[in-house]
Amino acid sequence: MYQHRATKTKAGLAAIVFLLITLVPMWGALHAWLNQENALVEEAAGSEAVNLAIAFDVHVQSVVRFVDTLTQDLREHAIKDGNDFGSVVKDELEFYGGMVAQVSLISSEGILVYSSLAPTVGAVDLSGRDHFRVHRDNPSKDELFISKPVFGRVSGVWSIQFTRSIIEKGKFAGVIVVSVPMSFFTDFYKKINIGPNGLIALVGMDRVPRAVASKGSAIAHVDELLLSKNTPYFAVGGLSEGLYKGVSAFDGSESLTAYRRLEYSGLVVLVQLSPEDYLMSSGKRHRLLIVSVSAVTVLLVAFAFLIYFTAWQHLKDAKALKQAHKVLRELVSIDTLTGALSRNCFLELLDKEFRDSESCGTKLSLILIDVDYFKKVNDTYGHPIGDIVLKQVVALCRAELRAHDSFGRLGGEEFGVILPCTDGASAIGVAEKLRTAIENANISTSKGPVRVTVSLGVAFAQSSGDTPSKLVIRADDALYCAKKAGRNKVCSARDKDDASQATTLSKYAP
Ligand code: GH3
Ligand code: MG
Ligand code: MG
Repeated sequence: MYQHRATKTKAGLAAIVFLLITLVPMWGALHAWLNQENALVEEAAGSEAVNLAIAFDVHVQSVVRFVDTLTQDLREHAIKDGNDFGSVVKDELEFYGGMVAQVSLISSEGILVYSSLAPTVGAVDLSGRDHFRVHRDNPSKDELFISKPVFGRVSGVWSIQFTRSIIEKGKFAGVIVVSVPMSFFTDFYKKINIGPNGLIALVGMDRVPRAVASKGSAIAHVDELLLSKNTPYFAVGGLSEGLYKGVSAFDGSESLTAYRRLEYSGLVVLVQLSPEDYLMSSGKRHRLLIVSVSAVTVLLVAFAFLIYFTAWQHLKDAKALKQAHKVLRELVSIDTLTGALSRNCFLELLDKEFRDSESCGTKLSLILIDVDYFKKVNDTYGHPIGDIVLKQVVALCRAELRAHDSFGRLGGEEFGVILPCTDGASAIGVAEKLRTAIENANISTSKGPVRVTVSLGVAFAQSSGDTPSKLVIRADDALYCAKKAGRNKVCSARDKDDASQATTLSKYAP
């Protein structure tokens, strides 16, 4: 169950790594690309707003200067020509057409004394209007005043009043008013495409808009608006022109605004563009791109699932294969009858122990064991009893050995013992112990107790020029010597290359 979960976790990790290395760069690149494109579009919109503001600035300045010149000119006539003033105005207005809605004169008491539009002279009291009061209260200042948009009681249109005071014999004698319709400013700019949510505005430094042109109609009653002072263009000591992105003073929306202050007239021109508009076309492209990348993401996620299941299956199979290998290795390395190491495994282990003893400089001994006259056991009691005897011989030997000694079956009734860290004398002692244990054992079988003996050949690794196969040969020769000496004996190889020199050590030696 645990292994099952671990396999699933590994497969899941493979799928997650796949998703991370594909999705993160893909979405990261898309994000960076979209940001860069938005920045470029915004930069272009900013340039457009600045250019429009410059054009608006030039237009407004020329209109203001022109209307002011007209105002001053008419004021001269008002002072000089008296009753002929009306015809002078008529001539001028014929020339200037729709640019001037009305020319009027206000007396020093604020009463309308002349209007180019209506004969209701004397009945209209304008003393409350800003464009009258500002001149009456500052008679010494001969400055142009541009009023908030007012709805003309006589003209019936929204207009901006350009006014100057009339001074006669050093005394305030009234005000000359030239009204320019608000539409003169707004109509022209309404033709410029600034998007459904953009606007162009002419604003006084008193924060009251003079004219506002947007995609729809000009915002009505702009005279009632008082714009927020938290804008760069109203800031005291702020720059005379600029571009900023922030909250609109008009409608609170996020917008890009280019502004220019017109110092001469105390006005500010504004061009305000909405990101909603200028990002619209790129926005459509972006949405298409995001949908495409999302579709690719879905495919990649599906692919990640495929990776997960395939990896899981593969890991499961690999695990099963590993398990099978382990079982197989055990089968190959363990002798099924006796539980001793198999011949191959024993010889491999001998190689390893030999190398270890060489590199660590420790002693190593080998004992070969052969059951004496075993054929007779089989012949007397039968093969199955022979098997039981072999098993018991192995069990008896193992009981005498240390945990780090290795016991293997080399052939039918032949066995071997590897004794690490054991010199020759100790190995001979061990062999003698094994011999005695088997000699004294009564092996119980279904056919009664059976007694056997073994012959043992002992050899130990030499300090130089020795090999595992030479060691085996010497032990085998010593075993042969034990057999020759009458069996139930321990013999040791006396000299490394001379098997004939093997010595019989057992007390039963002849
Ligand atoms: P010696 O003292 O010279 O070793 O005589 P021996 O009879 O032991 O030797 P030999 O080589 O003549 O006979 C070995 C016998 O061991 C022959 C074979 O049938 C028997 N044998 C080998 N493997 C097994 C086994 O797995 N089970 C049984 N029951 N007998 C086996
Ligand atoms: Mg044999
Ligand atoms: Mg034998």
